[in-house]
This record gives sequence, structure tokens and C-alpha cells, in this order.
Amino acid sequence: MTPDPHETSHEYPPESGASRFFTGLRRGFRRKCPNCGHGLAFSGYLKIRETCDFCGHKLGEYRCDDAPPYFTILIVGHLVVPGALAVEQSGTPSLALQLGIWIPVTLALTLGLLPFVKGGVLGVQWAMGIRG
Ligand SMILES: [Zn+2]
Repeated sequence: MTPDPHETSHEYPPESGASRFFTGLRRGFRRKCPNCGHGLAFSGYLKIRETCDFCGHKLGEYRCDDAPPYFTILIVGHLVVPGALAVEQSGTPSLALQLGIWIPVTLALTLGLLPFVKGGVLGVQWAMGIRG
């Protein structure tokens, strides 16, 4: 059963503040519409829907630009670089072994996280009213 967006007032956080910020971030990270938390925000891997199918919020007005790749690289770099250094410190692994481990890990983490990070960015933009 689909919940009625007008039935539960707690579904819509305050107009500003930390509650709205974290609500938008959480809903966006789940790839849901940040406005209602029920409709899907994406129509594909990274394509944001023009409008939410559930509440009609105009999601297409938000432009994430290069923020999602930036934050994804920031996160993946902070995971991969310490990992590569830890493997390097544990012995004397060959360069081929290091590349064989960390190139696939980097690709998998980047491609796996990017759509969720983009959802988070969308949610933060919604929370802060950043459009266009
Ligand atoms: Zn919605």
C-alpha cells in the first residue's frame, strides 16, 4: 500500500535546519525523492527524474553537476590509499599485485558509490533550496 503524503506530517521535515538537512541526505542516499521519501528520484543509473511520481516535486530543477564525482573520489581515495599503503607495509607485494588489487577495488567502489552519493547531493540541495 502506498502511503498518502498528506496523511503523515512527520514525512515532511521543517523548512530549514539540521533535521531537514539529514532527512534530505538520508532520503537522497536511498535514491528516493528528498521531498516525500517515497517516490524514486532516479530513472536510471545517474539520471534524475524530472518530477517525483509520488508527490510531483520537480526534481529536474536540481543540478548536481560535478559535486557527486568530487565527493565519490574523496571517499574512495580515503579508502583505497590507506589500503594500498597497508598492503605495501605488510610485505613487499609486486606492483602487478598492487595494481591487480586496487584498480578493480577503485572501479567497483567508485561505480558502486556514485549513484548513492549523487542521491545524497540531490537531497542536500533539496534541503538547502539550491536549484538551477
Ligand atoms: Zn516525492
